[in-house]
Amino acid sequence: MVLFSRYSVYASLQAILLILLHVLPLVTADPTPLDKLYTLVKNGGKGNCDSELSDLRTSYTEGLAMTQAAIDAIDAIKSGKSSNWVPTSKNNRKAKMLQALFNIKAASLFKSISSADSAALDKVRGVYSAAIDDANMNFEGLHWLYCNDDYLTHYNPEDEDPRAFGDNKPKVGEIENGRLKEFGGWYDGSFQFFKSKKAGETRAELFCGPGVGAFTIRTFQSITWCPNAFSGFSNGHKYVTSIGGIKADQKQIKKDDPLKNYESLASVWLHEWTHLQSSTADQPAYDSSGNSISGKSYGFFNCVNLARKGQSLAVANADTFAYFAMAMYLESWDWSNGFAENSLGM
Ligand SMILES: [Zn+2]
Repeated sequence: MVLFSRYSVYASLQAILLILLHVLPLVTADPTPLDKLYTLVKNGGKGNCDSELSDLRTSYTEGLAMTQAAIDAIDAIKSGKSSNWVPTSKNNRKAKMLQALFNIKAASLFKSISSADSAALDKVRGVYSAAIDDANMNFEGLHWLYCNDDYLTHYNPEDEDPRAFGDNKPKVGEIENGRLKEFGGWYDGSFQFFKSKKAGETRAELFCGPGVGAFTIRTFQSITWCPNAFSGFSNGHKYVTSIGGIKADQKQIKKDDPLKNYESLASVWLHEWTHLQSSTADQPAYDSSGNSISGKSYGFFNCVNLARKGQSLAVANADTFAYFAMAMYLESWDWSNGFAENSLGM
């Protein structure tokens, strides 16, 4: 859930790569399998996903289905059918959720959406479709996937560049025009450095800390899952490992269940994809009056407060996308107040 901004020489190389990918006709009918699209650490190496891979494969597929559910809901709303807009109808769960999470307004009876809201809706749809497009690129090893942060090693500015060989190895602080001169950086074990923000920075405070389930580093084009995502968090919260069974039998969901209970590995995939492919952030948190509070806009209620604060913030917040898609995927319930209400058609 933590995101790091992009920089480095590598970013421009990736830009070239991505431009090439958009030009070449590499799109396939089926999503690229997880193990092809992502480079994995082999043979029990640091950051490997050996024991998590089965759950990740399943949830990857579910995450794509969840993403598609969000796209389908948006398209239904865009089609302008009155049943998607009537504010009191049982069928308006899509529009209500769109308004709650993105502050994209369900206009009054049978009226079309405003042009500003329509533009915002297109932007939201674009973030979801980027995730689908990415998965459809038939490109082996496009991203990196790790299941622990122990592949990241800190180097101080005076350490030798671990990528260099031969005599006169440069110091870490000297590489890339002194980018890492102040506090050094984190090395991913293959070819890239991620800049430290302060002296003595530790992995626990930066990467797989107590509240972190996964994080994306765009500089590395990587998604890293943390042990919390599989074992549960210290506060007792646990992601659903596979949401597909609940999707198939939504009678398992009880009235007033919090949507938070249905956070899953799939919804975390989706959250991270929006960082990786669409440069969303984890926006700062606000209370319901719009005052800044500590933490980031994670979870349904923080996302609702963020949307109240500003539509432009909501459409750039990763968890907002995850929550909207979760609600559209579990389509037998109206989740627009954050809890399961008014079961529909079961
Ligand atoms: Zn995040």
